[in-house]
Amino acid sequence: MSLEKKSLLVSAPVEFLPNLKEVMVNEFDCTFSYGANRVEIETLLDENYFQGWLVSPCPTYLIAGVMMDLCPSLKIIATPSTGVNHINLKEAELRGISVFSLKGSNILDTIKASSEFTFNLMISTIRKTPYAFQGVLNGEWRESEHKYRGRELEGLTLGIIGFGRIGSNLANYSMAFDMNVLAYDPYIEITDSRIIQYQSMDDMLPKADVIVLSVPLNNETYGMIDANIFMKMKSGVYFINTSRGDVVNEKDLITFLKKKKIKAAGIDVLKGEFSGNIDKNPLVRYAKIHNNLIITPHIAGLTYDSERKAQTAAYKAIKELLI
Ligand code: NAD
Repeated sequence: MSLEKKSLLVSAPVEFLPNLKEVMVNEFDCTFSYGANRVEIETLLDENYFQGWLVSPCPTYLIAGVMMDLCPSLKIIATPSTGVNHINLKEAELRGISVFSLKGSNILDTIKASSEFTFNLMISTIRKTPYAFQGVLNGEWRESEHKYRGRELEGLTLGIIGFGRIGSNLANYSMAFDMNVLAYDPYIEITDSRIIQYQSMDDMLPKADVIVLSVPLNNETYGMIDANIFMKMKSGVYFINTSRGDVVNEKDLITFLKKKKIKAAGIDVLKGEFSGNIDKNPLVRYAKIHNNLIITPHIAGLTYDSERKAQTAAYKAIKELLI
């Protein structure tokens, strides 16, 4: 181990970012451990004097106080994500460990992956793209075209619940496709005169052909989208969720998909998705035998570009504190 360099544990994925990795190796004594499980990480923490830790944005373990105690030299934990539910913030504070996340960081404005993916999921759901591809793999071509008929975006009305970074970007993309845009977000005032802001979600729901959910998960939004809300939506609505699985009552979503009150849904997030028991999730089970629910494995933010920006920002925070 080099004496002059500080020691850094990197469990975030950086293998596809050779330039950043090279900078890290030049500036720190680095241990790369992407994919390590809890026991492996605990061993590394126990056997080293890391001052910084660039963590994975979605590890398979909670970064708890006991883990921090294994490495008393630790000064900063930086996560290349906005969410910090994988880090026990109170325990970090008690030990004087700084925690950096992207929340509130300027870099967020430059990260478009989740917004673009939300738009993509909306089109894919309306145009049934994944089912059409599956049809081709099954040896079908235009003889099955009746299964894949969709709608044009132009003229459809989009209702956005949660008009933050993703919601506002989505509005801009959608207006470029001549959609009408409505929004419900009680915490901000929308100044773009092309967008109709509703003070009540109930008033907006029956007006939209497509509803997109882009709110944070918190006590207020947990389970917020349930039968009571689905009931107020237009019959034949498309429903898209890239926020968090826990915002939606999944059983109620299935009920309304079955009744075709919701024509089709596209979702990137599931309740209990970190448990590793995806097969047991009721939406996954429903999607296996129905053709109006597309599920992707929480990949909205997964691009080389967004991750490069996020990891670089997190690394910069470590460097600023330690060097
Ligand atoms: P953001 O904080 O910029 O925007 C969230 C918006 O929701 C805010 O404007 C807020 O005022 C609004 N809001 C809060 N409570 C509300 C409520 N009860 N009703 C209506 N609006 C409400 O967040 P963002 O970057 O746009 O992301 C939104 C969420 O998407 C994140 O919190 C995160 O959970 C999720 N996300 C998922 C992925 C993914 O990979 N699927 C990637 C990034 C973000």
